[in-house]
Amino acid sequence: MNVMELFETMEYGPAPEAANTVQTWLKEHERFGLFIENQWIEPASGQYMESTNPANGKALVQVASASSADVDAAVSAARKAFKTWSKTPDHVRARYMYALARQIQKHARFLSVLESLDNGKSIRETRDIDIPLVARHFYYHAGWAQLMKRELPGYEPVGVVGQIIPWNFPLLMLAWKIAPAIAMGNTVVLKPARYTPLTALKFAEIVQEAGLPAGVINIVTGEASQVGDALVKHPDVNKIAFTGSTEVGRSIRRSTAGSGKKLSLELGGKSPFIVFDDADLDSVVEGVVDAIWFNQGQVCCAGSRLLVQENVAERLLNKLRARMERLRVGDPLDKGIDIGAIVSPSQLQEIERLVAQGEAEGAEKWQPSWACPNEGSFFPPTLFTNVSPASSIAQVEIFGPVLVAMTFRTPAEAAQLANNTRYGLAASIWSDNINLALDTAPKIQAGSVWINCTNVFDASSGFGGYRESGYGREGGKEGLYEYVHPSWEASQVPEKSPRTRPQGVTENEEVANTSEEAEFALPAIDRTPKLFIGGKQVRPDSGYSLSVKGADGKPLGEVGEGNRKDIRNAVEAAHAASKWANATPHNRAQILYYIAENLAVREEEFARRIMQQTGRGRKEALQEVHTTLSRLFSYAAWTDKFEGVIHRPPMRGVTLAMHEPIGVIGVVAPDEYPLLGFISLVAPVIAMGNTVVAIPSPTAPLSATDCYQIFETSDLPAGVVNIVTGEREGLAKVLAEHEDVDALWYFGSARGAKMVEEGSASNMKRTWVNYGRQRDWLDPIQGEGEEFLRASVQVKNIWVPYGE
Ligand code: NAD
Repeated sequence: MNVMELFETMEYGPAPEAANTVQTWLKEHERFGLFIENQWIEPASGQYMESTNPANGKALVQVASASSADVDAAVSAARKAFKTWSKTPDHVRARYMYALARQIQKHARFLSVLESLDNGKSIRETRDIDIPLVARHFYYHAGWAQLMKRELPGYEPVGVVGQIIPWNFPLLMLAWKIAPAIAMGNTVVLKPARYTPLTALKFAEIVQEAGLPAGVINIVTGEASQVGDALVKHPDVNKIAFTGSTEVGRSIRRSTAGSGKKLSLELGGKSPFIVFDDADLDSVVEGVVDAIWFNQGQVCCAGSRLLVQENVAERLLNKLRARMERLRVGDPLDKGIDIGAIVSPSQLQEIERLVAQGEAEGAEKWQPSWACPNEGSFFPPTLFTNVSPASSIAQVEIFGPVLVAMTFRTPAEAAQLANNTRYGLAASIWSDNINLALDTAPKIQAGSVWINCTNVFDASSGFGGYRESGYGREGGKEGLYEYVHPSWEASQVPEKSPRTRPQGVTENEEVANTSEEAEFALPAIDRTPKLFIGGKQVRPDSGYSLSVKGADGKPLGEVGEGNRKDIRNAVEAAHAASKWANATPHNRAQILYYIAENLAVREEEFARRIMQQTGRGRKEALQEVHTTLSRLFSYAAWTDKFEGVIHRPPMRGVTLAMHEPIGVIGVVAPDEYPLLGFISLVAPVIAMGNTVVAIPSPTAPLSATDCYQIFETSDLPAGVVNIVTGEREGLAKVLAEHEDVDALWYFGSARGAKMVEEGSASNMKRTWVNYGRQRDWLDPIQGEGEEFLRASVQVKNIWVPYGE
């Protein structure tokens, strides 16, 4: 027999990883309590549930099933610990986090085996990917704990954080949640997923070993309907960080609306894997294996839609089928297998259901000739061709080892097909032409874009979604802002009446007519500002106008009464102006300077308008105009300076963290400071390349409507800023529920804030609301800067490996 023949007949032998240490540990515990204040506590209900091994369906151990009473206990432990932990010096927190990272590394093999047993994922992945990334996350954030004061001056921790994680990367998701939270001085109550609580419980032991102060980390196992719900609704929780399905994310958005809880959502995806005809197809095949068969396809950012250029499609699919034939499905603890078990029988049923639906809808299914093990929950790698882009298997997140393939002809068609989804989590682009790949990356609506690679993660490079894949980032500096808030917010007061005139200020003579006009008693020339849509002053659809009263209660004029149809037109106009995103930052800055220049020429007139509407004196009104001018200059300055960063993850390559505009942003301006409040919101939004639909203050709209002429004469392209006057809450509701508005900033009442957050859930638009609290718009710390810029962009991480 020659070497070639030997090679052909070689079979894989089993290479099982020993599990006895972990099995002994499980036996010793028999059943786990809840981890509250560094103690193991019996659940109040006395109820336990089983965690099973998906590879054989056998029970592993019992874990506590908590109720809302247990969640109360965990939250109050976290609250108590917050008093000291939030004041613990940076270096001390960094040391604790370093200790956690070290302990994780020391227990790496144990954790890998335990994760494989509980989740069904292969030991090769837990050992080489999950657990090393967990340790890296704690090391990286130990660094941020150390640097917090220096790098985030003026920010403080938010308080007690409720964290809810899914079952697909149990310990990694725990690390993504806990590391940034405690680094920034928060305390946490974490709920692991129902199917996969075990590594979180081992982690609790590690917390004890590392000597973390009691109550900083609390882990509460149980059912979503009990623990998840109680945590989300708990009045003493300041923030919810959730990773899971878009459906549950939506319900959490609704139930936290108006509560003032900060919220970050990492949700589902249906990520495109784009192959251009000049790509190295053999590398592509290995890429696809990693994209959709990594973790049995139970990956939020799985490359589940293979989009391939038509002229190489057949060649690629043949290579892929050959590779699939050689993939190995089996015991997760066998080091030689590629694909492990599906997490649970119900998840397996769901995959089977969607695959059957794909066949029924006319797509062609292909699976390898070999069979999966009979025992446990297994599903073979599956490829669908002849798939229509609108079919359910092309749109719904299957969360299993199922790939759907479609073809395209041109790069433009590739981008269009890639974006034909409500999600926006990730994308892979394969091409040997770096120009083409880098040109395509910004066109894809996704938080992570991998060029000639896929499913790579690192603590330094933020991860999170666009569109209905959620908001917030995990990792990178941007991820830290999810766990802090500006320190000045603690002293915020509820909104006062904007019209309260400061004591002793009466400068009405400045507003009165000149003596000559008075002598002839000239009637005013009636000017009712219309709406400003698509660069034109247009009549409101209703044909009605609203009267505006001055601070003295006398009529000042009228503005158009906008309605649902006007908002729809304004949103359309804002979308039509989306090219604004491609204008160079230099160009956008020039226009902001030009707006300031044109406003400066009319500063007396704008000051008079402020006096009429607010009753403030001339000095104060002029101060508002001057601050507005300075603000416009600030954002003109920031336009080409609020840039992304280049990360150096541990690989040969870089990650380009780009700041991209969000799209169409609705802006509901505050009552106080009619001009400054309005411009303070509109300027950062347009500086970063978004377009706006703005609703001015209903009590003082005339400063905003006076801006029409300024915008018209400042080279601002039509449709970049659209202004609809009218009843604020009604118009804000239309914006909140509008499917084509990407973000909404609302600075009105507490009730309005709740309505906006609730309404936003339908398309998961980003919201920024003030819960009826006032900020000092004159103060540059509160009224301008990075907080506004960060809310105007979303970060896209583009991974660019190099080397042959
Ligand atoms: P899921 O939404 O059903 O559950 C996620 C977690 O939320 C679990 O701990 C669950 O118990 C809890 N939960 C469920 N209903 C709840 C409720 N009403 N209130 C509070 N908590 C509740 O998701 P899953 O099936 O565990 O995980 C799969 C989903 O997670 C997929 O959609 C996947 O794309 C997504 N995911 C996203 C990311 C990401 O970073 N974007 C990462 C991993 C998984």
